[in-house]
Amino acid sequence: MRNIVVLPGDGIGPEIVAEASRVLAYLNDRYALELTMAEHAFGGAAWEAQGDPLPASTLAACREADAILLGAVGGPRFDEAPREKRPERGLLRLRAELGLFANLRPALLYPALADASSLKAERVEGLDIMILRELTGGLYFGQPRGIEIRNGERVGFNTMVYSESEIRRVAVRAFEIARQRSSDARAARLCSVDKHNVLEVSELWREVVIEVSRDYPEVELTHMYVDNAAMQLVQTPKQFDVIVTGNIFGDILSDAAAALTGSIGMLPSASLDADGRGMYEPIHGSAPDIAGQGIANPLATILSVAMMLRYTLDEAAAADAIENAVGATLADGVRCRDIGGGVDSVSTRGMGDAVMSSLQRAAR
Ligand code: NAD
Repeated sequence: MRNIVVLPGDGIGPEIVAEASRVLAYLNDRYALELTMAEHAFGGAAWEAQGDPLPASTLAACREADAILLGAVGGPRFDEAPREKRPERGLLRLRAELGLFANLRPALLYPALADASSLKAERVEGLDIMILRELTGGLYFGQPRGIEIRNGERVGFNTMVYSESEIRRVAVRAFEIARQRSSDARAARLCSVDKHNVLEVSELWREVVIEVSRDYPEVELTHMYVDNAAMQLVQTPKQFDVIVTGNIFGDILSDAAAALTGSIGMLPSASLDADGRGMYEPIHGSAPDIAGQGIANPLATILSVAMMLRYTLDEAAAADAIENAVGATLADGVRCRDIGGGVDSVSTRGMGDAVMSSLQRAAR
């Protein structure tokens, strides 16, 4: 038995997670995946009910889990919570407690949505790239940090620091993913993004990535400066396959890549630990402006389940089934409001129904 913890969270979280859970429960039967699923309180809802956004019982369950499915947390209702009890703090704590250092953000554009992109359709049609961002080190966590008075004026400072082992583990994960994504039709390619011309930390980053590459001769490794990568990503994004980079560079590049695909409601993500266990969630937040209306797009969460099947549970056939069903649903013209549904938009539940029938159709 493999153990899945489900954290619906706040805002639209419970609505979108309900659809994703339905898909996972169906595949659990269909592919005999032997999964158990249990919901736990997390985020603002847990703070209201139990006084803590990450209750001890939820943390304990997450530690035991093979994988976690998260909706989203946060919302204006919880602004009155003390800073350390804010839902977002609970999420940062959970990621840190579980050592989730590898953040995977795919940017994939379904052909049916090519018009939703900020770029011309021909530049993005068929876009399918994966950005792997280091999540628990680098500039966001480095010490020393602070603001202090020096020579009579305020000075702010942070430290960009990576140890060899931190670089190595994220590089290994990136090479593994590049290899896993390759096929007869697609060579395995990895682009490591750094600022090697200016930063010592990038010099070490590049050295270690090159060392790791010796174990993966079948993966073609290239290097790119982050400023050039930003430009290339918005000009010719299809040149990339897998990108690996540090925390701050990945933060910025992955948001730019998300914009290429047109809708925030479509993009899943994964955060993995050293053993490949992980937390899976849409990249969007709790969307308080539309919560409770039943109109949120559940596809990012449903596609997060596909990532869970692929990257933690090693169930590629079930993952393919979800991705194909989402593609078929979009090709059929089914749309939520955020992806241009207009007057014919389907509800959250309606989109879940459409994906379920595509799955069932494909299984016949
Ligand atoms: P958001 O992603 O929640 O919403 C931004 C916009 O996108 C809104 O107009 C929203 O309606 C729309 N949107 C988002 N997801 C959608 C979906 N599935 N279908 C249709 N439309 C969708 O970002 P925000 O408004 O900046 O943040 C709201 C709350 O979420 C804040 O409290 C923030 O801290 C939190 N947040 C949580 C996470 C997380 O849980 N991982 C991530 C980001 C933001």
